[in-house]
Amino acid sequence: MKKCSGCQEDLPLTEFYKNKRMNDGHSIYCVSCTKENSRKYHQRKKNRLKVSHNEEVVKNMVLNNPQVSHPHLACFHQGQYWLVY
Ligand SMILES: [Zn+2]
Repeated sequence: MKKCSGCQEDLPLTEFYKNKRMNDGHSIYCVSCTKENSRKYHQRKKNRLKVSHNEEVVKNMVLNNPQVSHPHLACFHQGQYWLVY
C-alpha cells in the first residue's frame, strides 16, 4: 500500500503508475490523480496556448490583419509560432 500525495488515500501499488525516478519505483500520485492533474494541466495550457501554427500561416494572419482587430497575439516560443488567446 502507498499513500497518494494527491487524494491522500492508501492504495495498492497497482494503482500507481511506475516511475523509475522515484525511490520506490512508483509515482507519488495514484492513477486517477495523475489523470486529473494531466487534464487540469492541459486545460490550463490550452487556455493560454492554442494550436501552434507554422511561421507562414502566422505571417499571413498578421499581414491580413494589420489592424489587429482580434485578441490573438502571435509569439515565437520553443521554435514555433503560437497564437495566444
Ligand atoms: Zn490519488
